[in-house]
Amino acid sequence: MLRLAIQKKGRLSEDSLQLIKACGISYPKLKNRLTATAYNFPIQILYLRDDDIPKYVADGVADIGIVGENEVLEQNQIVSTIEELRFSKCRLCIAIPREMTYNGLKDLNGKNIATSYPTILTDFLEKENLNCNIQEITGSVEIGPSIGLSDAIFDIVSSGSTLLSNGLKEVATVMKSQALLLANPNLSDEQQAILDKLQFRIQAVLAAKKRKYISLNVPNDKIEAVTNVLPGVRSPSIMPLAKGDWSSLHSVIDEDDFWEVIDQIKAAGGEGILVVPIEKMIL
Ligand code: ATP
Ligand code: MG
Repeated sequence: MLRLAIQKKGRLSEDSLQLIKACGISYPKLKNRLTATAYNFPIQILYLRDDDIPKYVADGVADIGIVGENEVLEQNQIVSTIEELRFSKCRLCIAIPREMTYNGLKDLNGKNIATSYPTILTDFLEKENLNCNIQEITGSVEIGPSIGLSDAIFDIVSSGSTLLSNGLKEVATVMKSQALLLANPNLSDEQQAILDKLQFRIQAVLAAKKRKYISLNVPNDKIEAVTNVLPGVRSPSIMPLAKGDWSSLHSVIDEDDFWEVIDQIKAAGGEGILVVPIEKMIL
């Protein structure tokens, strides 16, 4: 049995549970749950505050965990990163009141900065040779300047709208973050075997999310031109259509260059393009 720590309630919770579900793991869904043992996979889920997850994984209270990279850096515990999970993407930034004059990082010297991430901020200020006072607070950091608690803040930003509505502007990005799958570095062989099985499923889910299945029709004399812009996992499959000198091409494309590839296919003579999501992908 492997104990998996996830956030009980917050921005990581839903995506963490969705990933578990996409891996084919089902578990009892009880309200006010603290733990849940999966029905069809040897894991027990522990629902915790995200701040506690790195330490619990390092101490072996949990064997593996899902938590933001920011929290892993902040807690500074000895854990192994198994997989970048590509959700809960955000950045940690320094922001200042809009009216404050700012010509560069050195203008932060001597200022008070409010944050819930003192460790990450301290490391950054040291690296930049800046001397600031850090005001550690646990939440609502963005009101720091308006209530006279601090001159600036260091906090998580995703769209920037919270900063804007509090009269703040972003001046420096200190780190980017996403959810990580962590593991205790001293798992037993049995636990490692369960983790390997879970990681294999997670990779299949992540690979599928990144790609789309595409099928399209193409006149036979243009197959080569279209094939050149359709890399596929190996190369596209080609099937003759029932009528005419046409074929159907099937392949897999990356979401990142999706629109670009579609434009190229059209320019090369492809028609009737269908794009469908992929549920799992085993490479
Ligand atoms: P807890 O009660 O468990 O301590 P919390 O209030 O500290 O929760 P949340 O706000 O739920 O934390 O955020 C959890 C994590 O989700 C953050 O540490 C960060 O990695 C990520 N995150 C936070 N805000 C955003 C956002 N706006 N967009 C994307 N990811 C975010
Ligand atoms: Mg927290």
